[in-house]
Amino acid sequence: MVTCASNKKMFPSESIAEEALISAWTAYDYTGKNGPVGVYLCDICGSYHLTSKGPTNKRLADFIASGELRRNAEASRWLDKLKKRK
Ligand SMILES: [Zn+2]
Repeated sequence: MVTCASNKKMFPSESIAEEALISAWTAYDYTGKNGPVGVYLCDICGSYHLTSKGPTNKRLADFIASGELRRNAEASRWLDKLKKRK
């Protein structure tokens, strides 16, 4: 598998990287200071990576502003609880 010199996870397109960014925010309780906030096209490998620097990605910002993040995070916490109970 091709890897990038930056050692970051590679995404083949901007929209896939954005999906991953949003999933990461759903899975982890980022406070807005410690999580990735955007995606960028890498000059080294030509793939997209997540970054914690720069402006917040538009799709992520909308996802947070609409309250969808909170709802999805809540749902995934419940799923975890249900899984643990088994
Ligand atoms: Zn790269």
